[in-house]
Amino acid sequence: MVELREQDESTMGLSFAGDVYNSAVYMKRCFPQLSVSMVTAIGRDRLSDKMLNRFKSESLETEFVFRHPSKVPGIYFIETDESGERRFTYWRNDSAARKLVDFLSAEVIEQLTVADTFFFSGIPLAIFEQGAHTKFWQSLERLKAAGVKVVFDPNYRAQLWTSKEEAIRQFDKALRLSDIALPGVEDLTVLYGIQSAQDAVGFCQQYELEEVVVKNGPHSVFTLVGNELLSHTITPVTKVVDTTSAGDAFNGVYLGARLSGRGIGESVQLAAKAAGTVIQHPGAIAPMAAFKQTMSEAGI
Ligand code: AMP
Repeated sequence: MVELREQDESTMGLSFAGDVYNSAVYMKRCFPQLSVSMVTAIGRDRLSDKMLNRFKSESLETEFVFRHPSKVPGIYFIETDESGERRFTYWRNDSAARKLVDFLSAEVIEQLTVADTFFFSGIPLAIFEQGAHTKFWQSLERLKAAGVKVVFDPNYRAQLWTSKEEAIRQFDKALRLSDIALPGVEDLTVLYGIQSAQDAVGFCQQYELEEVVVKNGPHSVFTLVGNELLSHTITPVTKVVDTTSAGDAFNGVYLGARLSGRGIGESVQLAAKAAGTVIQHPGAIAPMAAFKQTMSEAGI
C-alpha cells in the first residue's frame, strides 16, 4: 500500500508498506543471498511505478508483481494525535491488490512451484473479492503438492472482514494448508478468545504444522517444532517509537534465518532483534543503514 504520513500542516511523507512486503524487505536486508519475490497486484499509475521502483531498490524480485489495467494501489494515512496515539485512515476498497487472484493463472502457479517457501497472511485473505478464495486455495494446494513450504501469519484486521465467522473459516483453511504458522497472541485473542502464548500453541496443535512460532509482544516467543516446546526470552525495548510492522519484521527475519540453515533459538533471537530495532523507528520500514548496522552487530 501507499503510506502517507503527516509531516506538518501542509506536507505529507510518502512511503510504501504492507505486512507481507514488510516481511520481504527485512528478510532480504538480513539475508541478501536469498531470492525474495513479491507476489502482488499494483496499477499502471505513477504511484505504482514508484512502488515498483521501491521493491527493486530493496532488491526484491518483481516478476510476479502484476499491473492491473484500471485499478490503483490502496492508500493509508497515519496521523498521531497530541497523546501520541496513532490513527489510520484507509482507502483500499477498490485496490489492485484485491484482484491479485485474477492474475494467478496455471502458468504463473507453475512458475511459483520452483520456490522453497510461499508466505502469506490474513490480510490478503481479508481483501480478496468474494469467490476468489477457492482459486487461491487451489493454487496453494498445487504449490504444496510441488513441495513448496506454505507459511501463514493469521494477521487479523476486524474492519476488513464482513464477519468474524468468515475470518475464522478462511483462517481454518489457511492453517490446514500450512506447514509453518507464525501467529501473534493478540490476533488469536480477538478471534478465538485465546489469552496466552501457551494456549496459542495448544490451538495450533489441532493442525498438522511442522513448525509453530507464537509471538507474544515483549513478553516471550514460544516455538513448537516436532514435540519440542520452547519458551524464548525477549529483551524488551524501553524506548518504543512505533510498533508498526514488529510482527512482520519478526516473520521475515525468522524465515530468512531458518531458510539459511540457522537453528530455532538463534532464528528467534535474530527475529526478535530485528523487530526490536524496527519499533525504535517511525513507520513500517526502518532506515536501511540503522537497521543493517544493528543486525550486523547481532551477527548477521
Ligand atoms: P507482537 O506482534 O506485538 O507480538 O510483536 C512481534 C515481535 O516484536 C515480538 O515477538 C517481539 O520480538 C517484538 N516486540 C514487540 N514489542 C516489543 C518490545 N516492547 N520490546 C522488544 N521487542 C518487542
